[in-house]
Amino acid sequence: MNPHLLTHDTADDYVAGMSRVTRLVARHLAADAPSTGATVADLAPAVESVDLDRPAADLDAAFAEVTDVYLRDAIWFHHPSYVAHLNCPVALPAVLAEGIIAAVNTSVDTWDQSAGGTLVEQRLVRWTAGRIGFDESLADGVFTSGGTQSNLQGLLLARGEAERRAGADVAPRLRVLATEHSHFSVIKSARIMGLHPSAVIPVPTDATGGMSLEALRRELEGVRERGEVAMAVVATAGTTDLGVIDPIPGIADLATEHGAWLHVDAAYGGGLLVSLRRRHLLDGIERADSVTVDFHKTFFQPVSSSAIIVRDGATLGHVTHHADYLNPRTAVTPNQVDKSLQTTRRFDALKLWMTLRITGADAVGGMFDEVIDRAHQVWEVLVEDERFEVATEPVLSTVLLRYRPAGLSAHDADSLNPRIRHALLDGGDVMVAGTTIEGRSWLKFTLLNPQTSLEHLSGILETIAATGEQLIAEDAMDEVAVASLGSDTSSRGLGADALAPRRPVRATGAGVAR
Ligand SMILES: *Cc1c(COP(=O)(O)O)cnc(C)c1O
Repeated sequence: MNPHLLTHDTADDYVAGMSRVTRLVARHLAADAPSTGATVADLAPAVESVDLDRPAADLDAAFAEVTDVYLRDAIWFHHPSYVAHLNCPVALPAVLAEGIIAAVNTSVDTWDQSAGGTLVEQRLVRWTAGRIGFDESLADGVFTSGGTQSNLQGLLLARGEAERRAGADVAPRLRVLATEHSHFSVIKSARIMGLHPSAVIPVPTDATGGMSLEALRRELEGVRERGEVAMAVVATAGTTDLGVIDPIPGIADLATEHGAWLHVDAAYGGGLLVSLRRRHLLDGIERADSVTVDFHKTFFQPVSSSAIIVRDGATLGHVTHHADYLNPRTAVTPNQVDKSLQTTRRFDALKLWMTLRITGADAVGGMFDEVIDRAHQVWEVLVEDERFEVATEPVLSTVLLRYRPAGLSAHDADSLNPRIRHALLDGGDVMVAGTTIEGRSWLKFTLLNPQTSLEHLSGILETIAATGEQLIAEDAMDEVAVASLGSDTSSRGLGADALAPRRPVRATGAGVAR
Protein backbone atom coordinates (compact mmCIF):
# COMPACT_ATOMS: atom_id res chain seq x y z
CA MET A 1 0.00 0.00 0.00
CA ASN A 2 1.09 3.54 -0.68
CA PRO A 3 0.87 5.66 2.46
CA HIS A 4 1.11 8.95 0.57
CA LEU A 5 -2.04 8.83 -1.49
CA LEU A 6 -5.69 8.97 -0.56
CA THR A 7 -7.06 5.56 -1.39
CA HIS A 8 -9.16 2.93 0.30
CA ASP A 9 -5.95 1.76 2.01
CA THR A 10 -5.37 5.12 3.66
CA ALA A 11 -9.00 5.86 4.49
CA ASP A 12 -8.29 5.63 8.22
CA ASP A 13 -5.37 8.06 7.93
CA TYR A 14 -7.66 10.35 5.98
CA VAL A 15 -10.30 10.35 8.69
CA ALA A 16 -7.72 10.84 11.44
CA GLY A 17 -5.86 13.55 9.53
CA MET A 18 -8.99 15.46 8.64
CA SER A 19 -10.23 15.43 12.19
CA ARG A 20 -6.86 16.71 13.38
CA VAL A 21 -6.75 19.45 10.77
CA THR A 22 -10.31 20.56 11.49
CA ARG A 23 -9.45 20.80 15.20
CA LEU A 24 -6.35 22.81 14.35
CA VAL A 25 -8.35 25.27 12.28
CA ALA A 26 -11.14 25.37 14.86
CA ARG A 27 -8.65 26.49 17.51
CA HIS A 28 -7.57 29.36 15.31
CA LEU A 29 -11.16 30.42 14.67
CA ALA A 30 -11.03 31.67 18.23
CA ALA A 31 -8.54 34.36 17.18
CA ASP A 32 -9.30 37.52 19.14
CA ALA A 33 -8.45 39.82 16.26
CA PRO A 34 -8.78 39.62 12.47
CA SER A 35 -5.00 39.87 12.10
CA THR A 36 -1.87 39.75 14.18
CA GLY A 37 -0.48 42.66 12.20
CA ALA A 38 2.47 40.47 11.15
CA THR A 39 4.65 42.10 8.54
CA VAL A 40 6.58 40.57 5.67
CA ALA A 41 9.71 40.92 7.79
CA ASP A 42 8.01 39.01 10.61
CA LEU A 43 6.89 36.10 8.46
CA ALA A 44 9.49 35.76 5.72
CA PRO A 45 12.19 34.15 7.92
CA ALA A 46 9.85 31.34 8.98
CA VAL A 47 8.90 30.65 5.37
CA GLU A 48 12.46 30.93 4.10
CA SER A 49 13.91 28.64 6.75
CA VAL A 50 11.84 25.66 5.62
CA ASP A 51 13.87 23.07 3.72
CA LEU A 52 11.57 22.16 0.84
CA ASP A 53 13.88 19.39 -0.32
CA ARG A 54 13.17 17.29 2.76
CA PRO A 55 9.80 16.64 4.34
CA ALA A 56 9.03 17.47 7.96
CA ALA A 57 9.68 14.74 10.53
CA ASP A 58 6.02 13.88 11.02
CA LEU A 59 2.50 15.21 10.90
CA ASP A 60 2.97 17.08 14.18
CA ALA A 61 6.02 18.86 12.83
CA ALA A 62 4.25 19.71 9.59
CA PHE A 63 1.23 21.10 11.45
CA ALA A 64 3.46 23.16 13.72
CA GLU A 65 5.27 24.50 10.68
CA VAL A 66 2.10 25.44 8.79
CA THR A 67 0.95 27.23 11.92
CA ASP A 68 4.20 29.21 11.95
CA VAL A 69 4.28 30.15 8.29
CA TYR A 70 0.59 30.81 7.85
CA LEU A 71 -2.17 29.89 10.20
CA ARG A 72 -1.23 31.90 13.28
CA ASP A 73 -1.01 35.14 11.33
CA ALA A 74 -3.74 34.51 8.79
CA ILE A 75 -6.30 37.22 8.10
CA TRP A 76 -9.66 36.13 9.52
CA PHE A 77 -12.66 37.34 7.56
CA HIS A 78 -15.11 35.86 10.06
CA HIS A 79 -13.87 38.20 12.79
CA PRO A 80 -16.39 41.00 13.38
CA SER A 81 -13.63 43.62 13.30
CA TYR A 82 -12.66 42.67 9.75
CA VAL A 83 -14.52 45.22 7.63
CA ALA A 84 -11.96 45.84 4.90
CA HIS A 85 -12.38 44.22 1.51
CA LEU A 86 -15.09 42.21 -0.22
CA ASN A 87 -14.31 39.06 1.75
CA CYS A 88 -17.04 37.11 3.46
CA PRO A 89 -17.21 34.74 6.36
CA VAL A 90 -17.93 31.40 4.71
CA ALA A 91 -21.09 29.32 4.85
CA LEU A 92 -20.39 26.21 6.90
CA PRO A 93 -22.05 23.80 4.41
CA ALA A 94 -19.73 25.15 1.72
CA VAL A 95 -16.69 24.31 3.82
CA LEU A 96 -18.05 20.80 4.29
CA ALA A 97 -18.42 20.63 0.53
CA GLU A 98 -14.76 21.63 0.14
CA GLY A 99 -13.93 18.46 2.04
CA ILE A 100 -15.77 16.43 -0.57
CA ILE A 101 -14.43 18.42 -3.52
CA ALA A 102 -10.80 18.00 -2.52
CA ALA A 103 -11.05 14.32 -1.69
CA VAL A 104 -13.02 13.21 -4.75
CA ASN A 105 -11.09 15.65 -6.95
CA THR A 106 -13.65 15.77 -9.73
CA SER A 107 -12.80 17.92 -12.69
CA VAL A 108 -15.99 19.22 -14.23
CA ASP A 109 -14.52 19.75 -17.67
CA THR A 110 -15.95 16.63 -19.29
CA TRP A 111 -18.81 14.32 -18.46
CA ASP A 112 -16.44 11.36 -18.28
CA GLN A 113 -14.50 13.05 -15.47
CA SER A 114 -17.43 14.35 -13.52
CA ALA A 115 -20.80 12.70 -14.20
CA GLY A 116 -23.23 14.06 -11.60
CA GLY A 117 -20.93 17.01 -10.96
CA THR A 118 -21.72 18.28 -14.43
CA LEU A 119 -25.44 18.06 -13.83
CA VAL A 120 -25.20 19.74 -10.44
CA GLU A 121 -23.27 22.63 -11.96
CA GLN A 122 -25.74 22.91 -14.84
CA ARG A 123 -28.69 22.87 -12.47
CA LEU A 124 -27.15 25.71 -10.43
CA VAL A 125 -26.46 27.68 -13.59
CA ARG A 126 -30.12 27.30 -14.56
CA TRP A 127 -31.22 28.21 -11.05
CA THR A 128 -29.13 31.38 -11.14
CA ALA A 129 -30.47 32.17 -14.61
CA GLY A 130 -33.99 31.81 -13.25
CA ARG A 131 -33.21 34.18 -10.41
CA ILE A 132 -31.88 36.67 -12.95
CA GLY A 133 -35.11 36.37 -14.89
CA PHE A 134 -33.67 34.69 -17.98
CA ASP A 135 -35.64 32.08 -19.87
CA GLU A 136 -34.16 28.96 -18.28
CA SER A 137 -34.65 26.89 -21.40
CA LEU A 138 -32.45 29.28 -23.40
CA ALA A 139 -29.99 30.52 -20.80
CA ASP A 140 -26.74 28.82 -19.90
CA GLY A 141 -23.42 29.55 -18.30
CA VAL A 142 -20.53 28.07 -16.44
CA PHE A 143 -18.75 28.40 -13.12
CA THR A 144 -15.50 30.34 -13.19
CA SER A 145 -12.61 31.12 -10.88
CA GLY A 146 -13.91 34.60 -10.11
CA GLY A 147 -15.42 37.81 -11.38
CA THR A 148 -12.26 38.61 -13.29
CA GLN A 149 -12.62 35.51 -15.41
CA SER A 150 -16.38 35.91 -15.68
CA ASN A 151 -15.94 39.44 -17.00
CA LEU A 152 -13.29 38.31 -19.46
CA GLN A 153 -15.59 35.64 -20.77
CA GLY A 154 -18.54 38.04 -21.00
CA LEU A 155 -16.46 40.37 -23.13
CA LEU A 156 -15.11 37.52 -25.26
CA LEU A 157 -18.67 36.48 -26.05
CA ALA A 158 -19.51 40.11 -26.83
CA ARG A 159 -16.62 40.24 -29.27
CA GLY A 160 -17.67 36.96 -30.80
CA GLU A 161 -21.13 38.37 -31.44
CA ALA A 162 -19.76 41.64 -32.83
CA GLU A 163 -17.47 39.76 -35.18
CA ARG A 164 -20.22 37.40 -36.22
CA ARG A 165 -22.29 40.38 -37.28
CA ALA A 166 -19.65 42.74 -38.65
CA GLY A 167 -16.87 40.38 -39.75
CA ALA A 168 -13.54 39.58 -38.13
CA ASP A 169 -11.87 42.72 -39.48
CA VAL A 170 -14.03 44.82 -37.16
CA ALA A 171 -11.57 44.13 -34.32
CA PRO A 172 -9.64 47.44 -34.37
CA ARG A 173 -12.90 49.39 -34.25
CA LEU A 174 -14.42 47.55 -31.29
CA ARG A 175 -15.25 49.62 -28.22
CA VAL A 176 -16.36 48.74 -24.69
CA LEU A 177 -18.22 51.30 -22.59
CA ALA A 178 -18.02 51.28 -18.81
CA THR A 179 -17.66 53.81 -16.02
CA GLU A 180 -14.36 54.49 -14.35
CA HIS A 181 -15.81 52.74 -11.30
CA SER A 182 -16.16 49.51 -13.24
CA HIS A 183 -13.82 46.76 -12.09
CA PHE A 184 -10.28 46.89 -13.46
CA SER A 185 -10.79 43.45 -14.95
CA VAL A 186 -12.77 45.17 -17.73
CA ILE A 187 -9.65 46.98 -18.92
CA LYS A 188 -7.47 43.94 -18.24
CA SER A 189 -9.83 41.81 -20.31
CA ALA A 190 -9.63 44.27 -23.17
CA ARG A 191 -5.85 44.03 -23.02
CA ILE A 192 -5.89 40.23 -22.91
CA MET A 193 -8.19 40.28 -25.93
CA GLY A 194 -5.69 42.39 -27.82
CA LEU A 195 -7.82 45.52 -27.81
CA HIS A 196 -6.06 48.78 -27.28
CA PRO A 197 -6.57 50.12 -23.73
CA SER A 198 -8.28 53.13 -25.29
CA ALA A 199 -10.88 50.73 -26.67
CA VAL A 200 -12.50 50.92 -23.25
CA ILE A 201 -14.35 54.23 -23.20
CA PRO A 202 -14.93 55.64 -19.73
CA VAL A 203 -18.53 56.77 -19.40
CA PRO A 204 -18.93 59.60 -16.89
CA THR A 205 -20.99 59.01 -13.77
CA ASP A 206 -23.68 61.22 -12.30
CA ALA A 207 -24.07 62.50 -8.76
CA THR A 208 -25.06 59.04 -7.51
CA GLY A 209 -21.76 57.56 -8.71
CA GLY A 210 -23.67 55.42 -11.21
CA MET A 211 -23.36 55.58 -14.97
CA SER A 212 -24.91 58.72 -16.43
CA LEU A 213 -27.44 57.69 -19.07
CA GLU A 214 -27.05 61.00 -20.83
CA ALA A 215 -23.30 60.46 -20.99
CA LEU A 216 -23.76 56.89 -22.21
CA ARG A 217 -26.04 58.11 -25.00
CA ARG A 218 -23.46 60.72 -25.98
CA GLU A 219 -20.60 58.22 -25.96
CA LEU A 220 -22.57 55.65 -27.97
CA GLU A 221 -23.42 58.31 -30.54
CA GLY A 222 -19.75 59.31 -30.68
CA VAL A 223 -18.81 55.69 -31.29
CA ARG A 224 -21.30 55.46 -34.13
CA GLU A 225 -20.22 58.78 -35.68
CA ARG A 226 -16.58 57.76 -35.67
CA GLY A 227 -17.42 54.52 -37.46
CA GLU A 228 -16.48 52.46 -34.42
CA VAL A 229 -18.52 49.55 -33.10
CA ALA A 230 -19.94 49.41 -29.58
CA MET A 231 -19.09 45.82 -28.79
CA ALA A 232 -20.34 45.91 -25.20
CA VAL A 233 -21.69 48.12 -22.50
CA VAL A 234 -20.69 47.00 -19.02
CA ALA A 235 -23.11 47.92 -16.26
CA THR A 236 -21.80 47.33 -12.77
CA ALA A 237 -24.33 46.11 -10.21
CA GLY A 238 -22.39 47.04 -7.12
CA THR A 239 -19.13 48.81 -7.83
CA THR A 240 -16.19 47.37 -5.94
CA ASP A 241 -15.31 50.68 -4.36
CA LEU A 242 -18.68 52.22 -3.53
CA GLY A 243 -21.29 49.52 -4.01
CA VAL A 244 -23.13 51.70 -6.51
CA ILE A 245 -25.52 50.05 -8.97
CA ASP A 246 -25.55 51.51 -12.46
CA PRO A 247 -29.08 52.24 -13.81
CA ILE A 248 -29.52 48.91 -15.58
CA PRO A 249 -32.92 49.46 -17.30
CA GLY A 250 -31.81 52.71 -18.96
CA ILE A 251 -28.49 51.18 -19.94
CA ALA A 252 -30.32 48.19 -21.41
CA ASP A 253 -32.45 50.53 -23.54
CA LEU A 254 -29.39 52.28 -24.93
CA ALA A 255 -27.44 49.07 -25.47
CA THR A 256 -30.38 47.63 -27.41
CA GLU A 257 -30.73 50.80 -29.47
CA HIS A 258 -27.06 50.60 -30.44
CA GLY A 259 -26.87 46.85 -30.90
CA ALA A 260 -24.32 46.48 -28.11
CA TRP A 261 -23.96 43.43 -25.88
CA LEU A 262 -24.99 44.22 -22.33
CA HIS A 263 -22.77 42.69 -19.70
CA VAL A 264 -23.89 43.20 -16.11
CA ASP A 265 -21.05 42.79 -13.65
CA ALA A 266 -22.94 41.74 -10.52
CA ALA A 267 -19.86 40.29 -8.84
CA TYR A 268 -20.76 42.23 -5.70
CA GLY A 269 -24.50 42.88 -6.07
CA GLY A 270 -25.25 39.31 -7.19
CA GLY A 271 -26.34 38.38 -3.68
CA LEU A 272 -29.41 40.53 -4.27
CA LEU A 273 -30.70 37.68 -6.44
CA VAL A 274 -31.66 35.93 -3.21
CA SER A 275 -32.46 39.05 -1.18
CA LEU A 276 -35.90 39.02 0.39
CA ARG A 277 -36.17 42.80 0.54
CA ARG A 278 -33.92 44.29 -2.13
CA ARG A 279 -34.20 42.14 -5.23
CA HIS A 280 -35.70 45.17 -7.00
CA LEU A 281 -32.29 46.86 -6.96
CA LEU A 282 -31.34 44.47 -9.77
CA ASP A 283 -34.40 45.25 -11.88
CA GLY A 284 -33.45 45.18 -15.55
CA ILE A 285 -30.72 42.57 -15.08
CA GLU A 286 -32.94 40.14 -17.01
CA ARG A 287 -32.22 42.25 -20.10
CA ALA A 288 -28.49 41.54 -19.93
CA ASP A 289 -26.75 39.31 -22.46
CA SER A 290 -24.31 38.11 -19.82
CA VAL A 291 -24.06 38.44 -16.06
CA THR A 292 -21.15 37.96 -13.67
CA VAL A 293 -22.06 36.63 -10.23
CA ASP A 294 -19.38 36.11 -7.58
CA PHE A 295 -20.72 33.53 -5.17
CA HIS A 296 -17.53 33.98 -3.17
CA LYS A 297 -18.60 37.48 -2.23
CA THR A 298 -22.27 37.86 -1.40
CA PHE A 299 -23.31 34.21 -1.33
CA PHE A 300 -20.81 33.55 1.48
CA GLN A 301 -18.88 30.95 -0.48
CA PRO A 302 -15.23 30.06 0.02
CA VAL A 303 -12.87 31.24 -2.73
CA SER A 304 -13.25 30.35 -5.52
CA SER A 305 -16.82 30.34 -6.73
CA SER A 306 -18.17 32.55 -9.49
CA ALA A 307 -20.21 32.16 -12.65
CA ILE A 308 -20.91 33.73 -15.98
CA ILE A 309 -24.56 33.37 -16.92
CA VAL A 310 -25.74 34.17 -20.45
CA ARG A 311 -29.21 34.86 -21.75
CA ASP A 312 -28.69 32.79 -24.88
CA GLY A 313 -26.65 29.64 -24.30
CA ALA A 314 -25.77 29.44 -27.99
CA THR A 315 -23.42 32.42 -27.56
CA LEU A 316 -21.15 30.25 -25.41
CA GLY A 317 -20.16 28.63 -28.71
CA HIS A 318 -17.66 31.47 -29.10
CA VAL A 319 -15.39 29.71 -26.60
CA THR A 320 -15.96 26.16 -27.84
CA HIS A 321 -13.12 24.11 -29.25
CA HIS A 322 -13.06 20.42 -29.86
CA ALA A 323 -9.95 18.39 -29.16
CA ASP A 324 -9.71 14.76 -30.14
CA TYR A 325 -8.13 13.84 -26.81
CA LEU A 326 -10.77 15.53 -24.64
CA ASN A 327 -14.07 16.55 -26.10
CA PRO A 328 -14.35 15.37 -29.70
CA ARG A 329 -17.58 16.17 -31.48
CA THR A 330 -18.51 12.53 -30.99
CA ALA A 331 -17.97 12.61 -27.21
CA VAL A 332 -20.66 11.88 -24.69
CA THR A 333 -22.12 15.22 -23.66
CA PRO A 334 -22.67 17.50 -21.85
CA ASN A 335 -19.10 18.70 -21.48
CA GLN A 336 -18.76 21.89 -19.52
CA VAL A 337 -15.32 22.47 -21.05
CA ASP A 338 -17.16 23.42 -24.24
CA LYS A 339 -18.36 26.54 -22.42
CA SER A 340 -15.38 27.40 -20.26
CA LEU A 341 -12.09 29.25 -20.60
CA GLN A 342 -10.60 26.72 -18.19
CA THR A 343 -9.99 23.05 -18.88
CA THR A 344 -9.34 21.19 -15.64
CA ARG A 345 -11.73 22.88 -13.27
CA ARG A 346 -12.76 22.51 -9.64
CA PHE A 347 -16.25 21.37 -8.77
CA ASP A 348 -16.89 24.65 -6.94
CA ALA A 349 -20.59 24.35 -7.68
CA LEU A 350 -20.97 21.72 -4.97
CA LYS A 351 -20.32 24.39 -2.33
CA LEU A 352 -23.25 26.49 -3.47
CA TRP A 353 -25.36 23.38 -3.85
CA MET A 354 -24.77 22.30 -0.27
CA THR A 355 -25.31 25.85 0.96
CA LEU A 356 -28.68 26.01 -0.77
CA ARG A 357 -29.60 22.55 0.48
CA ILE A 358 -28.56 23.13 4.11
CA THR A 359 -28.60 26.88 4.77
CA GLY A 360 -31.17 27.74 2.11
CA ALA A 361 -31.42 30.58 -0.38
CA ASP A 362 -33.60 32.75 1.86
CA ALA A 363 -31.11 32.60 4.71
CA VAL A 364 -28.28 33.55 2.36
CA GLY A 365 -30.29 36.49 1.06
CA GLY A 366 -31.21 37.36 4.63
CA MET A 367 -27.55 37.59 5.59
CA PHE A 368 -26.85 39.95 2.69
CA ASP A 369 -29.89 42.04 3.62
CA GLU A 370 -28.62 42.19 7.18
CA VAL A 371 -25.20 43.58 6.27
CA ILE A 372 -26.85 46.14 4.00
CA ASP A 373 -29.11 47.15 6.90
CA ARG A 374 -26.01 47.54 9.06
CA ALA A 375 -24.37 49.76 6.45
CA HIS A 376 -27.39 52.06 6.53
CA GLN A 377 -27.35 52.08 10.33
CA VAL A 378 -23.69 52.97 10.67
CA TRP A 379 -24.12 55.60 7.97
CA GLU A 380 -26.80 57.25 10.10
CA VAL A 381 -24.49 57.15 13.10
CA LEU A 382 -21.74 58.77 11.05
CA VAL A 383 -23.96 61.55 9.75
CA GLU A 384 -24.54 62.60 13.38
CA ASP A 385 -20.90 62.25 14.49
CA GLU A 386 -19.06 65.53 13.95
CA ARG A 387 -15.65 63.89 14.10
CA PHE A 388 -16.32 62.15 10.79
CA GLU A 389 -17.21 62.95 7.24
CA VAL A 390 -19.28 60.37 5.46
CA ALA A 391 -19.99 59.79 1.77
CA THR A 392 -23.46 59.44 0.32
CA GLU A 393 -25.84 56.89 1.76
CA PRO A 394 -24.85 53.34 0.85
CA VAL A 395 -26.81 51.25 -1.63
CA LEU A 396 -25.14 47.97 -0.72
CA SER A 397 -22.87 47.25 2.23
CA THR A 398 -20.03 49.72 1.65
CA VAL A 399 -19.64 52.84 3.78
CA LEU A 400 -17.04 55.53 3.08
CA LEU A 401 -15.96 57.70 5.97
CA ARG A 402 -13.06 59.86 7.01
CA TYR A 403 -11.88 61.12 10.34
CA ARG A 404 -11.90 64.88 10.24
CA PRO A 405 -12.41 66.53 13.60
CA ALA A 406 -13.11 70.24 13.87
CA GLY A 407 -10.13 72.33 12.85
CA LEU A 408 -8.51 69.72 10.59
CA SER A 409 -8.32 70.88 6.99
CA ALA A 410 -9.58 68.64 4.20
CA HIS A 411 -6.01 68.43 2.94
CA ASP A 412 -4.66 67.29 6.28
CA ALA A 413 -7.48 64.76 6.56
CA ASP A 414 -6.30 63.36 3.22
CA SER A 415 -2.93 62.50 4.69
CA LEU A 416 -4.15 61.55 8.14
CA ASN A 417 -6.72 58.93 7.15
CA PRO A 418 -4.34 56.61 5.28
CA ARG A 419 -2.03 56.82 8.28
CA ILE A 420 -4.88 55.84 10.58
CA ARG A 421 -5.55 52.87 8.34
CA HIS A 422 -1.93 51.78 8.37
CA ALA A 423 -1.71 52.15 12.14
CA LEU A 424 -4.77 49.91 12.45
CA LEU A 425 -3.25 47.35 10.09
CA ASP A 426 -0.05 47.34 12.15
CA GLY A 427 -2.08 46.66 15.26
CA GLY A 428 -4.27 44.02 13.65
CA ASP A 429 -7.26 44.49 15.96
CA VAL A 430 -9.35 46.28 13.37
CA MET A 431 -9.08 46.01 9.61
CA VAL A 432 -10.64 48.70 7.45
CA ALA A 433 -10.01 49.47 3.79
CA GLY A 434 -9.06 52.76 2.22
CA THR A 435 -9.65 54.43 -1.09
CA THR A 436 -9.28 57.71 -2.89
CA ILE A 437 -12.25 59.37 -4.55
CA GLU A 438 -11.64 62.51 -6.57
CA GLY A 439 -8.38 63.13 -4.78
CA ARG A 440 -9.84 62.76 -1.29
CA SER A 441 -8.72 59.93 1.01
CA TRP A 442 -11.41 57.83 2.60
CA LEU A 443 -11.59 54.92 4.95
CA LYS A 444 -13.97 52.21 3.93
CA PHE A 445 -16.10 49.64 5.69
CA THR A 446 -17.10 46.77 3.45
CA LEU A 447 -19.63 44.86 5.50
CA LEU A 448 -20.18 41.20 4.66
CA ASN A 449 -20.31 39.73 8.12
CA PRO A 450 -23.78 39.66 9.67
CA GLN A 451 -22.07 39.18 13.04
CA THR A 452 -20.50 42.63 12.84
CA SER A 453 -23.03 44.48 14.97
CA LEU A 454 -23.65 48.19 15.17
CA GLU A 455 -21.86 48.05 18.55
CA HIS A 456 -18.77 46.58 16.86
CA LEU A 457 -18.89 49.32 14.28
CA SER A 458 -19.26 52.02 16.92
CA GLY A 459 -16.25 50.52 18.67
CA ILE A 460 -14.29 50.60 15.43
CA LEU A 461 -15.23 54.27 14.98
CA GLU A 462 -13.90 55.01 18.47
CA THR A 463 -10.68 53.18 17.64
CA ILE A 464 -10.32 55.19 14.44
CA ALA A 465 -10.90 58.44 16.31
CA ALA A 466 -8.47 57.52 19.09
CA THR A 467 -5.84 56.57 16.53
CA GLY A 468 -6.35 59.80 14.60
CA GLU A 469 -6.15 61.82 17.79
CA GLN A 470 -2.94 60.11 18.79
CA LEU A 471 -1.33 60.69 15.38
CA ILE A 472 -2.25 64.38 15.53
CA ALA A 473 -0.76 64.61 19.02
CA GLU A 474 2.44 62.89 17.87
CA ASP A 475 2.76 65.28 14.96
CA ALA A 476 2.36 68.23 17.29
CA MET A 477 5.11 66.88 19.51
CA ASP A 478 7.35 66.29 16.49
CA GLU A 479 6.83 69.89 15.49
CA VAL A 480 7.82 71.12 18.93
CA ALA A 481 10.93 68.92 18.84
CA VAL A 482 11.90 70.11 15.37
CA ALA A 483 11.32 73.74 16.34
CA SER A 484 13.46 73.41 19.48
CA LEU A 485 16.29 71.94 17.40
CA GLY A 486 16.03 75.03 15.28
CA SER A 487 16.83 72.94 12.23
CA ASP A 488 13.54 73.40 10.49
CA THR A 489 11.24 76.20 11.31
CA SER A 490 8.82 75.45 8.52
CA SER A 491 5.66 73.89 9.70
CA ARG A 492 5.58 70.14 9.30
CA GLY A 493 2.05 69.48 8.30
CA LEU A 494 0.36 66.17 8.69
CA GLY A 495 1.17 65.48 5.07
CA ALA A 496 4.80 64.72 5.89
CA ASP A 497 5.82 61.07 5.84
CA ALA A 498 2.19 60.23 5.32
CA LEU A 499 2.68 56.51 5.20
CA ALA A 500 5.62 56.18 7.56
CA PRO A 501 5.23 53.25 9.90
CA ARG A 502 4.15 54.31 13.36
CA ARG A 503 3.76 52.45 16.55
CA PRO A 504 0.42 50.78 16.29
CA VAL A 505 -2.26 52.27 18.44
CA ARG A 506 -3.71 49.37 20.36
CA ALA A 507 -7.47 49.41 20.36
CA THR A 508 -8.07 51.21 23.59
CA GLY A 509 -10.74 48.80 24.66
CA ALA A 510 -12.93 51.29 22.92
CA GLY A 511 -15.94 49.08 23.04
CA VAL A 512 -14.87 46.73 20.27
CA ALA A 513 -16.88 43.83 21.55
CA ARG A 514 -15.60 40.41 20.69
C1 LIG B 1 -14.60 41.57 -6.99
C2 LIG B 1 -15.09 42.11 -8.27
C3 LIG B 1 -14.64 41.60 -9.49
C4 LIG B 1 -13.53 40.61 -9.57
O1 LIG B 1 -13.88 39.40 -9.06
P1 LIG B 1 -12.79 38.35 -8.56
O2 LIG B 1 -13.63 37.26 -8.06
O3 LIG B 1 -11.98 39.03 -7.50
O4 LIG B 1 -11.96 37.96 -9.73
C5 LIG B 1 -15.22 42.07 -10.66
N1 LIG B 1 -16.17 43.03 -10.61
C6 LIG B 1 -16.61 43.56 -9.45
C7 LIG B 1 -17.66 44.62 -9.49
C8 LIG B 1 -16.07 43.12 -8.24
O5 LIG B 1 -16.49 43.67 -7.09
